[in-house]
Amino acid sequence: MDQVFDVLIIGGGAAATSAAMTLHNRGKSIAVVANKAETGSLYKAEMITNYPGLPPMSGAEMTELFRRQLTETGATMIEGRALSVLPMEDSFGVAVGSDYYMARSIILTAGITREKLYPGEAEFLGRGVSYCATCDGMLYRGKTVAVVGGGEEAAQDADFLEGIGCTVLRFPKPGHFEISGGLKADTLTFGGDAHQVDCVFIIKDTVSVTKLVPGLTYENGGIVVDRRMQTAVPGVFAAGDCTGKPLQLAKAVGEGNVAALSACDWLDKK
Ligand SMILES: Cc1cc2nc3c(=O)[nH]c(=O)nc-3n(C[C@H](O)[C@H](O)[C@H](O)COP(=O)(O)OP(=O)(O)OC[C@H]3O[C@@H](n4cnc5c(N)ncnc54)[C@H](O)[C@@H]3O)c2cc1C
Repeated sequence: MDQVFDVLIIGGGAAATSAAMTLHNRGKSIAVVANKAETGSLYKAEMITNYPGLPPMSGAEMTELFRRQLTETGATMIEGRALSVLPMEDSFGVAVGSDYYMARSIILTAGITREKLYPGEAEFLGRGVSYCATCDGMLYRGKTVAVVGGGEEAAQDADFLEGIGCTVLRFPKPGHFEISGGLKADTLTFGGDAHQVDCVFIIKDTVSVTKLVPGLTYENGGIVVDRRMQTAVPGVFAAGDCTGKPLQLAKAVGEGNVAALSACDWLDKK
């Protein structure tokens, strides 16, 4: 896509909805990269009884309300997982699968990931570990690769890799995986069996925010922000659970609003 959005929001939960509504009111062009609504924390809540203005309702019901409002902002909705954010001179490039989007500023609202990293995953990321078959698959044509992850996306990625000539070992069930190697990953161990592979493709719903944007800083598991929700990277703001405790809806919504106003100031000053 050639368009350079004013703001690209990563995540589609409460913080993202609040940010997008404020950006819409300020006349900014918005893109939202969001996983399926069921992946958000709110969706898992049995009953929300402490959110002002709304009667008690299930997290799933409230998620539906938020998603509807998010869509109504007119934001360009991009369904999928943001894989990386690349800061450039005057803008940011965001990879989503094999697609690439550009924006002048970024608001991170990716929530918290409860998925643990596999041993070796962080160490070998970019060196025989990949989150994106369509981005990196061609590097492994004719080689043996593993696809770790269940669901439709993992199955499609495995089919794609086979289609381009890879020998694909599929691991759709959760379990204890370990990735090891030397300069590059070369072995995937699962259930006590060691498999020689040239690349391990890991397909999860989320990418840890620590892997999304280079240069962020962290404290107690959250992205460090100032009172304006500015992170350590100029032009990148963060809001909601990803900035740390308390992990509460009202905090996520408030921070989304502040992050949006700060992004507007940032854009106006430029
Ligand atoms: C069981 C449970 C009960 C709860 N009960 C309450 C309660 O009663 N009251 C209360 O105030 N709070 C409650 N909470 C907390 C509340 O749900 C969260 O604080 C709130 O939903 C956080 O919103 P968020 O927008 O920051 O993150 P989320 O709602 O988690 O949204 C983040 C979204 O971003 C997506 N995402 C992540 N990475 C990427 C990526 N790389 N690309 C694209 N999308 C991505 C995620 O998949 C997710 O959909 C509860 C939470 C849980 C789990």
